[in-house]
Amino acid sequence: MNILIMGPAGAGKGTMSDLILKEYDIPHISTGDMLRENVRNNTDLGKEAKSYMDAGKLVPDAVINAMVEARLQEADCQKGYLLDGFPRTLVQAEKFAEISQKIGKPVECVLALDVDFNLLKERITGRRVCSKCGAIYHIHNHPSKVEGVCDVCGGALKQRSDDTVEKLTQRMDEYDNSTKPVIDFYDQKGVVAHIDASQKPEDVFNDIKEALGKIG
Ligand code: AMP
Repeated sequence: MNILIMGPAGAGKGTMSDLILKEYDIPHISTGDMLRENVRNNTDLGKEAKSYMDAGKLVPDAVINAMVEARLQEADCQKGYLLDGFPRTLVQAEKFAEISQKIGKPVECVLALDVDFNLLKERITGRRVCSKCGAIYHIHNHPSKVEGVCDVCGGALKQRSDDTVEKLTQRMDEYDNSTKPVIDFYDQKGVVAHIDASQKPEDVFNDIKEALGKIG
């Protein structure tokens, strides 16, 4: 199953991706997570990406395309992939159409998570992420048992540096300018499932399963 999951920051891509992984045997590949790991490990790619990420800007297409192409050729992608955060621009989408065709894994379904800006604002500013295992919490909607401490591994919970209203506004503008055309690109190919992501997580996931049932 070759799936893309798309939506603005805070639409629930991370949460839905975790649920999809449990149900279907494919790896979750988040370009944001891959970049953050590179930044943490201070790799050459991480050093190049950091300044763009800190500024809430997109990392250059060529860097991202090469990173994704290499990742999809790893053994765990044999049964497919769930790509999260890519493609984010029309240039990436057009290039990815070539790459995915070449490696025999063309996109079968694009899950577009639709959600309103005010709800996103509330979700994003309350989001906390475990610095050790990456588990996701929310100070009101999904708090950890002990404040600031991960239920799963005991790691410290942190707010991502780009999870502020200011950065969110920037990322939303960028989403409108760069990513909406990508969804239109896939809409023209007839592979997009528009999902109402302002619903409760279980209802969002049910809609996702229904959409994936049509391709699987
Ligand atoms: P995310 O966690 O998906 O919100 O990504 C965090 C940051 O990583 C973004 O604000 C971008 O700077 C960078 N990034 C992630 N995916 C991409 C991509 N496909 N193209 C360009 N930059 C990306």
